[in-house]
Amino acid sequence: MKALLLERQAPAETAPLRKAERPTPEPGPGELLLRVLACGVCRTDLHLAEGDLPLHLAPVVPGHQAVGRVESAGPGASGFAVGELVGAAWLHAACGACRYCARGDENLCASPLFTGWDVDGGCAQFMKVRADFAYRLPAGLTPEAAAPLLCAGIIGYRALRRSAVPRGGRLAIFGFGGSAHVAIQVARHWGCEVHAFTRSPAHRRLALELGAASAAALPEDGSRFDAAVLFAPSGALVPVALEALDKGGTLAVAGIHLSPIPSLDYRRHLFDEKRLVSVTANTREDGRRFLRLAAEIPIKTTVRLYEFERANEALADLKADRVTGAAVLLVGA
Ligand SMILES: [Zn+2]
Ligand SMILES: [Zn+2]
Repeated sequence: MKALLLERQAPAETAPLRKAERPTPEPGPGELLLRVLACGVCRTDLHLAEGDLPLHLAPVVPGHQAVGRVESAGPGASGFAVGELVGAAWLHAACGACRYCARGDENLCASPLFTGWDVDGGCAQFMKVRADFAYRLPAGLTPEAAAPLLCAGIIGYRALRRSAVPRGGRLAIFGFGGSAHVAIQVARHWGCEVHAFTRSPAHRRLALELGAASAAALPEDGSRFDAAVLFAPSGALVPVALEALDKGGTLAVAGIHLSPIPSLDYRRHLFDEKRLVSVTANTREDGRRFLRLAAEIPIKTTVRLYEFERANEALADLKADRVTGAAVLLVGA
């Protein structure tokens, strides 16, 4: 099968992904083999390609927002029929036995496996997914439209919940890429007034089209939001966002990687019971609840499609903020 491999981390502009022929994997016990149709490209893929995150496996097939049809099932893999459209997401598996898993926090599992990091992911014609960690997808979406729901969507949803934004509340979103453009649709569905902050004029336009009450580079002095989500991987925005929170407000940082946070001033940034929380992966329950909600709203994704051979361009475009909406790789027909 054809696959994209990351072997040595390097700047996106130098094309760290290389196309190769690999043996088609065999599904093991409890696993499904998917014929991949589309795979979303996420900022985490960029962090991994460039070395902001360490390589866990080399070479690795990246990609953790894969949509494919079940080609075959290994022994004991149940719940999905051959030919069914299935999604594979970031959390490949949690151990199910550690104290975090035992209390329902499988996103914090002590020995998790992540798709496209610890195990091969979706930038290949075929991939394996654990049947108990695979997702059913909302009807009526093409594979390329559904792909960004699997990380951008699910993580954005968890970030909104971690931000504790009240129904109808005032929400600030910092950075407006793949995840934010889905999260805003959930927040609008909850009746929130959403304000988007991003340097990119194209991203501000998309935010307004998706129902943002305002879109600007930075909040005005004296802004008071009930909650905020930081999607941009910029620690410099943490004090900016905290300062713009109302009393009792929460800032949720959605990314897996963040540049250094400048020093915080207790009175300006944290006093009045402001909270700063992170978002770490997601549970399957988050994924299932979000995908049901996505069908109900219904969420529409804005995608920029890349041919399989152009995956390195997708990484470079993400890095330069040239992607409006989400980047998706077309893998198979
Ligand atoms: Zn665990
Ligand atoms: Zn991701």
